[in-house]
Amino acid sequence: MSVIKLKSKLKYCHYAYDDEGYVIHMLTSNERTFFTNAYIIETKNSIVVVDTLMVNSDAILLRQYMDNINKPLIAVIITHGHPDHYNGTEIITGFKEVPIISTKGIRDCIQDTVDSKEVKWKPYFGQDWPEHKILPNQLVIDSEVVNLDGLDYSFRDLGAAESSSDLFFTLGEKRSVVFVGDVVFNNMHGFMNDGNSAQWLKVLQKLLTEIADVKLLFTGHGDPGDTHQLVQRQIDYISHYRSNLRAIIRGNQLLNDTQKQSFEQLMMANYPEFQLSSFIKAGIDAVSQELIVEQNDKP
Ligand SMILES: [Zn+2]
Repeated sequence: MSVIKLKSKLKYCHYAYDDEGYVIHMLTSNERTFFTNAYIIETKNSIVVVDTLMVNSDAILLRQYMDNINKPLIAVIITHGHPDHYNGTEIITGFKEVPIISTKGIRDCIQDTVDSKEVKWKPYFGQDWPEHKILPNQLVIDSEVVNLDGLDYSFRDLGAAESSSDLFFTLGEKRSVVFVGDVVFNNMHGFMNDGNSAQWLKVLQKLLTEIADVKLLFTGHGDPGDTHQLVQRQIDYISHYRSNLRAIIRGNQLLNDTQKQSFEQLMMANYPEFQLSSFIKAGIDAVSQELIVEQNDKP
């Protein structure tokens, strides 16, 4: 593994799997766009891009990386429907017709939320927010295997977890690596806003066995790492978030500002080394609503 600092603001690492003929180039945005990862998977004749970053300026830098490799782009894979993972698609595809792969759930999620995300973020990012909305145009189903330049991409449709629809895929016959999008974060606070935390936990439990054979896990935020360890740590994080919140919630009341403050401090104290602490507060209302419904549903 090598790490080099570019003049640009994307951090770069690469991982070579020579025995199966592919190289993974990992590019990471800065804190302003949530340290989001995008990947270029390079095979003998071509490249595939996994996620396309959030703002035009980051996508242009990713595009420069692709141009330096100097092989044709044969597909883009979108791991889930949050804009830090799909917004750069138009720049990445160079405005050409390229297969943009996801599941139907992910395409529907983008279609349903792209306008509200723009309302929220365009005032902040201005010209750096993309003008056109590009949707996935090649849908895969659960367990589908797509061969791209001789390398098998094996997809699983996870349904709702971190977002309203997530997927993961492994590469090659050896399944040396897995890409999980934001179903797992590494050393970062999770994005809990979509309020699926109970379902997210179920998905993670399933992953513990389903990808137990895969050594290295690549996430949407944070460094790659040991699959079992990272999945288990994500389970612990979400369980902690939920139990800390449950201890503060009174009846059917959402938290007031003082309670939110103390919850945030508690999570920061529990995970002092984690980045993206702005995500803690952002998820409070959604997960509180979930917990209140769970509580009321108990016999
Ligand atoms: Zn993300």
